[in-house]
Amino acid sequence: MPELPEVETIRAGLEPVLVGRTFEHVEIADPRLTRPYEPREVAAELVGEKVEALERRGKYLVVRFESGRVLLIHLRMTGSLQHLRDESASEDPYRRAVVRLDNGSDVAYRDVRRFGTWLLLEPGELEPYLAERIGGEPLSRALTSRSLRERLARRRAPLKAVVLDQRVFAGVGNIYADEALWWARLHPLRPAGDLGPDEVQALVRGIRRALRLGIERQGATLRDYRGADGAEGGMQNEFRVYGREDEPCPRCGTPIEKTRAGGRGTWYCPGCQR
Ligand SMILES: [Zn+2]
Repeated sequence: MPELPEVETIRAGLEPVLVGRTFEHVEIADPRLTRPYEPREVAAELVGEKVEALERRGKYLVVRFESGRVLLIHLRMTGSLQHLRDESASEDPYRRAVVRLDNGSDVAYRDVRRFGTWLLLEPGELEPYLAERIGGEPLSRALTSRSLRERLARRRAPLKAVVLDQRVFAGVGNIYADEALWWARLHPLRPAGDLGPDEVQALVRGIRRALRLGIERQGATLRDYRGADGAEGGMQNEFRVYGREDEPCPRCGTPIEKTRAGGRGTWYCPGCQR
């Protein structure tokens, strides 16, 4: 599933393609994408909208139009967006939508599992919508170890579950949560409220380090994820613990173990994550 680094890589790749361009023609082939709204109606509403900015919040892509409206895209499990310059690349059974831009190029939305969503929001609707669903950006300066300490206080849930909570760290998913806890040398099953001040600071740093490395490597391609240019990411070659059961920890050599935490498969080093 695309997490913050994957969505950010797609955003950065599409920004020069989309900003300043007008949606000339929009085809949405899958009613699940715009549910409960009619795909044809949403497509018609999008025609003529000019893109002012392409932003990201958590795992959401935010297409801001000059009109003040916003197209909010969530890729969920297997969604991806690609800029197509070459018409010969056009046959794809998993293509759910295509936007023709006013320069003649296409942006195609592909989704094998079909959990992704496109939601057209009117001016003023974005912030309240996001405020109900996600917390702050982990890479923003607004996240400090002091503010995080207050949020974690008294929480008995395992650390891994709290790191996955989108209201605490918007955009962090299963891969980057495991990697972040390894960088922070913290055990995923520790009760979140038990962390001392130094450990909370290590957690903030670990999350940022894992996410920044993911962005640098253009995301992780395990199966479906591709950047906007169709290229695979490289982060899958950089995992310290994720998916590396029984392999030696790159820091201390102890074999990496797999457990379950927060309802998800979780990899960690029993030697150096306390
Ligand atoms: Zn280790």
